[in-house]
Amino acid sequence: MNRQCLICDSSAVLTRDAAKGLTLLAGLLDGAIKGARRHHEGSCHAALLSGLAAVAPAYPEARKAAEDVVRFHFTGFDCLCLRCGALFDETTESNEGLSPG
Ligand SMILES: [Zn+2]
Repeated sequence: MNRQCLICDSSAVLTRDAAKGLTLLAGLLDGAIKGARRHHEGSCHAALLSGLAAVAPAYPEARKAAEDVVRFHFTGFDCLCLRCGALFDETTESNEGLSPG
């Protein structure tokens, strides 16, 4: 689906679900990196396993961060324009073309 900003027509629009998913992914990746760094000695294999083991414990904090991003940056709207910062709902955009006259 092609989304464009209602204010500046930019196509650099981030949806709420995408922002939540990206934040969750970044949080889990951060947990894996921290877990891998705990092994200063030993093989790369041990560091990799330690990193993988740290992913699941990082989930609650990553989920909280993702929910905070949605709450503070989207404030109830569906889409955020990355160019001008406008917030708008997807339904507003899709209904616009359907309204008669
Ligand atoms: Zn915009």
